[in-house]
Amino acid sequence: MKTPLLDEALALDAADPLAGERSLFAIPRDTNGKEVAYFTGNSLGLMPHAARDAVKQELDDWATLAVDAHLHGANPWFAYHERFRETGARLVGARPGEVVMMNGLTANLHLMLASFYQPRGIRTKILVEDALFPSDDYAVESHLAHRGLDPREHTIRLAPRAGEDTLRTEDIVGSIERVGDTLALVMLAAVQYRTGQWFDMPAITAAGHGVGAMVGWDCAHAAGNVPLQLHDCDADFAVWCGYKYCNAGPGAIAGCFVHERHGDNPDIPRLAGWWGNDPATRFKMESGFVPRPGADGWQLSNPPILAMAPLAASLEIFDRVGMAALREKSLKLTGFLERAVLGVAPGARIITPSDPAQRGCQLSIAFGERARAVRDALQAQGVVADFREPDIVRLAPVPLYNTFADCARAAAAIAEVTGKALA
Ligand SMILES: *Cc1c(COP(=O)(O)O)cnc(C)c1O
Repeated sequence: MKTPLLDEALALDAADPLAGERSLFAIPRDTNGKEVAYFTGNSLGLMPHAARDAVKQELDDWATLAVDAHLHGANPWFAYHERFRETGARLVGARPGEVVMMNGLTANLHLMLASFYQPRGIRTKILVEDALFPSDDYAVESHLAHRGLDPREHTIRLAPRAGEDTLRTEDIVGSIERVGDTLALVMLAAVQYRTGQWFDMPAITAAGHGVGAMVGWDCAHAAGNVPLQLHDCDADFAVWCGYKYCNAGPGAIAGCFVHERHGDNPDIPRLAGWWGNDPATRFKMESGFVPRPGADGWQLSNPPILAMAPLAASLEIFDRVGMAALREKSLKLTGFLERAVLGVAPGARIITPSDPAQRGCQLSIAFGERARAVRDALQAQGVVADFREPDIVRLAPVPLYNTFADCARAAAAIAEVTGKALA
């Protein structure tokens, strides 16, 4: 059905310089054979068609070259992770050598906590958010338990003020200053998974360093979504996964950032493996770990090539388009969705900050008692969204493959529940 909102959306799509990128992705179809409006790229990003060929290439090299593909494959396996040295760094605003793609997110978080959580004397505490993602919570708790420290006593948990949904920067900084020289580590999500809030990373990192603590960021919902500046914001470490906005497939290989001031310090304690050892001596099979410089020195095992191939296909797209151009479209797309949703559901409460500088593309919308009806209407109209108890619908318009028309379609489905016209 043509509506003023859809007309506007179609005009915006026609003028969108990134509109062509959508054709690089496989878009699932609904039961009527129509492409869905996919708003859950914050959970599992869509498949770049090139991922298929990238995996096939490695299977073919395995079939035809076997062990020789380590040195003579199309993308020699021996140095496979180095394919991401530049592209991985550019994705998150890091310098080459500060980023390595390896393992899963939680595994990388454990490796980083082993290195950067070093309780000494009274400096034992870890500051986190109360609404921490469970896996991060378990990781932090287990590191405290590992050092014989009671997690309840040594974890500071930040919650929003009464009646508010998100944390204020001044409150986070105030807490850091209050914990002061008992604070060993600040570990926060860069973009909060439930509210979509993007924290003020430079200010919080500076506050942590100001009291002598380390600062690490979980960028699971930030990498590939917002233009991160991990080097310039001076983070000590960061981790992220490859399957959300990074579009590298289910359970994809994850990212890890170590600031260069630590990467070249062989004295940082770490859990080591042979792939983090200097490649010149790796095959001498001698004892005595000699880390290779940079984030590469935290690698454990030889990389799972079949799992890394889709990441190469995906990062090629990010690198060609660039985070700056993606952000520019993302601001327009998310702003359009926000306006469209509020237009048809004036009573809905968007708990994501309305300030575009404090969010990426995700909008978390509290629909109150109409939440389930909205979820059902979205589903019936081929709009893929995610529902969180008690009443939150999360919609993440992703600039690489979502359209303004997708946003109009979501608004039309919501309008069926609220009975409002699409103005
Ligand atoms: C998605 C997500 C995870 C998931 O962890 P995996 O190790 O990738 O399974 C962890 N933490 C946060 C904050 C997340 O958003």
